[in-house]
Amino acid sequence: MNPIQILMYHQVGRFPAMKAHRATYCDHRRFAAQMAYLARFGYTVLRMDEALACLRGERPTPPRAVVLTFDDGYENFYEYAWPVLRRHGFPALVYLISDLIGQPARWLAADNLATPPLMSAERIRQLRGEGVDFGSHAVSHVRLAQIDTAAIRAEVHDSKAALEDVLGEEVRHFCYPFGSHDRRAVDAVAEAGYASATTCVRAPATPADDPLTLPRKAISFGDNLIGYFWRLHVKNTPKHDFIRRDGQTFAERAAAA
Ligand SMILES: [Zn+2]
Repeated sequence: MNPIQILMYHQVGRFPAMKAHRATYCDHRRFAAQMAYLARFGYTVLRMDEALACLRGERPTPPRAVVLTFDDGYENFYEYAWPVLRRHGFPALVYLISDLIGQPARWLAADNLATPPLMSAERIRQLRGEGVDFGSHAVSHVRLAQIDTAAIRAEVHDSKAALEDVLGEEVRHFCYPFGSHDRRAVDAVAEAGYASATTCVRAPATPADDPLTLPRKAISFGDNLIGYFWRLHVKNTPKHDFIRRDGQTFAERAAAA
């Protein structure tokens, strides 16, 4: 079947030219050009739940299928990304850190980066009303593979419960902070009942993937449209970078059901 490109954005906005840490910034004009590119060249932007249905074989996958994900829940999503997405009618999945709602992105200070504001609960509910999907990015933006198992479970379970309180609905999707995951983290995500979890492994998503370790492609500050095309279609990391072990693929899960 056609693969699905899950794209990973972080901040979208106006930023000074920068050499380091560019991977998590996307200039707002480049973002607008990238979305126009998707619209113009006939891409279908899927919600994560629609993508999962395609990967499970429950519906056909359109030939140029993309999912747009935004990590951390920056307020600049509301200011710069959402107006563009709305204009095109594109859905988006934003991953929130449950303990940092309405707070600055404090963990960035460790890398001497600015700590921009994250969305408030009011903003999250407003955007949900306008059609944005939200998932969990853990309680405190820690590397799950580096903490003990009880702490992993708390990050995964408690963030789901807290975000469900804010949203008043089930939170079905998880994203590993820094892409950091191991078998314990994947198990905790399964146990908590999430339908999907995304990593930072750069590859297209296919039915051969485990829905709880989905690959994604980072879009960075320097990506002009040629770079964007390159990331969409060419640049992949080998799948053996996955920590999958005995996780089940979409196909295996379907066969077992
Ligand atoms: Zn993050």
